[in-house]
Amino acid sequence: MARPKTIAIDGPAGSGKSTLGFLLAEELGYLYFDTGVMYRAVTLAAIQHGLAIEDEERIGQLAKRVRIDVRPPSVDDGRAADVLLDGKDVTWEIRKEVVNAAVSPVSTYAAVRDAMTAQQRRIAHENRVVMVGRDIGTVVMPDADLKIYLDASVEVRAERRYQELLARGEEADYDLVLASLRNRDRIDSGRKIAPLRPAEDAVIINADDLGIQEVLLKAKELAENV
Ligand code: C5P
Repeated sequence: MARPKTIAIDGPAGSGKSTLGFLLAEELGYLYFDTGVMYRAVTLAAIQHGLAIEDEERIGQLAKRVRIDVRPPSVDDGRAADVLLDGKDVTWEIRKEVVNAAVSPVSTYAAVRDAMTAQQRRIAHENRVVMVGRDIGTVVMPDADLKIYLDASVEVRAERRYQELLARGEEADYDLVLASLRNRDRIDSGRKIAPLRPAEDAVIINADDLGIQEVLLKAKELAENV
């Protein structure tokens, strides 16, 4: 049976789409590419340069200048990939709360999206890829062979994120995690350019009552039957 060359996985923050994408890519032998890390790296660069998060023009210019590399993991510390910002490893720094709080506003900027989308399309052209994000099925790879939209209620996503933070030994407050996810959902779904939404031809999977292995099984079946 022919297997698809490109698989797009979209969904809101904390739906489990990155874990699904990683495992599916591993099973199929495809490249795993989580596009969220690129928006996170630009956001971190803006913070490091001392730019105001509202400064669309300068952040847009910065997005064109910075070099973001995403490579197979070089360290066995739970990372799915190495993320380099101008040559420096920022894999864990981009997961910090300061970045979580600023990444959605930064991702609304047209110049930022243009720069990131161009790089993502180049990667999609060159590889068999499982690409994960918000606008992969709608904008980045509208001709993807399979599109999955992984959804879950905001409460379920917040509970999972909260448990992950505790498991990593980090301080966590459920109400803050919930508020942060709600805020990101609102900005990601409400923005003018490339808002978060399922593509018309996407298969929607609701993960409220499904564990990751069950979601993976469904996704594998879909990948084998396109
Ligand atoms: O997936 P993750 O939560 O790491 O993404 C971080 C942020 O990057 C999202 O909240 C969203 O604002 C932005 N993003 C985006 N388009 C993508 C991937 C991520 O706007 N394709």
